[in-house]
Amino acid sequence: MNTKQRIFSAIQPSGELHIGNYLGALKNFVELQDKYDCFFFIADYHSISGEYDPQKKKKQIMDLTLNFLAIGLDPEKCTITVQSQVPEHTELTWIFNTITPISELQRMTQFKDKSQDQEKNINMGLFDYPVLQAADILMYKAYGVPVGQDQIQHIELTRKIARFFNNKFGKTFPEPKDIITETPKIMSLIDPTKKMSKSHGPKSYVGINDEPEIIKQKMKKAVTDIGTTGKMTPATENLFLLLKILGKPEHYKEFLVQHKKGIIKYGQLKEALADDIINYFTPFRAKRKELESKPEYVKEVLAIGADHARKIARETMREVKEKIGLVL
Ligand code: AMP
Repeated sequence: MNTKQRIFSAIQPSGELHIGNYLGALKNFVELQDKYDCFFFIADYHSISGEYDPQKKKKQIMDLTLNFLAIGLDPEKCTITVQSQVPEHTELTWIFNTITPISELQRMTQFKDKSQDQEKNINMGLFDYPVLQAADILMYKAYGVPVGQDQIQHIELTRKIARFFNNKFGKTFPEPKDIITETPKIMSLIDPTKKMSKSHGPKSYVGINDEPEIIKQKMKKAVTDIGTTGKMTPATENLFLLLKILGKPEHYKEFLVQHKKGIIKYGQLKEALADDIINYFTPFRAKRKELESKPEYVKEVLAIGADHARKIARETMREVKEKIGLVL
């Protein structure tokens, strides 16, 4: 039996992964897998609460799985699967729905933001999204959830749902903690008042699968300030943060000194950052190419993950149903 503490996190298969997703979550997944019993899911049910093309969904799921494996998630160390392959998640969501006050969901800032992004499709799934997320996490009685800053409010709600359930039906779920990186919120390259996000268009982010030429073009267009001394603007702060984590240490030091002296040339900083990002993700791109020729292996990883996850999910559901009085 595995005695390590459990970690759960998921990412939606809804298009490209960007360096914000990587620095806020995925990088941490890779580091945590050595220490914890990790469950990393492809959140397909979450992704259908947004606008999507059913013809593309399967490819997006396979793409994200390839990204997980190519970035270094090891199926020998962690459980990787697709949310809808474990139907117990939606079953537990229904039970949690019955103990979650609507007022809690109305406070969620992500619901408010996404409602603006998809005005014509403010569906029930979008509203209930955090309850499904709580079911995902609590199903495995996770100790921690590695996420970016935008998810902290949802994890707080997950803790509340655990508390509501425990108070009503007896101690069942631990209250999970959020685990964030030193880069929990990477900002958009073209508008540093907004977080880097797919919904703000491709110019706002660098995708981890972007070709070198595209990375160079996007970095060229990144906004900066006018290059005088003094305090950094949010835009330059964001670029320096990217350079600190993804760049060569000597680049970071050199440009920091230039900034302090007020002699920095942002064109040079952006060129160096583009090159460093390209280099950083080169092994990832090579590994991804190699895995693309092995779709059967990728499917097998997901099937093995689903089998393992379902065993635990069934146990949790048995316990939950017993506690709420549904076992005859
Ligand atoms: P999602 O695409 O919403 O499934 O997000 C996947 C993960 O990436 C979540 O843990 C988010 O909190 C994280 N994330 C998304 N955007 C950013 C960002 N701009 N900076 C840091 N983390 C992010």
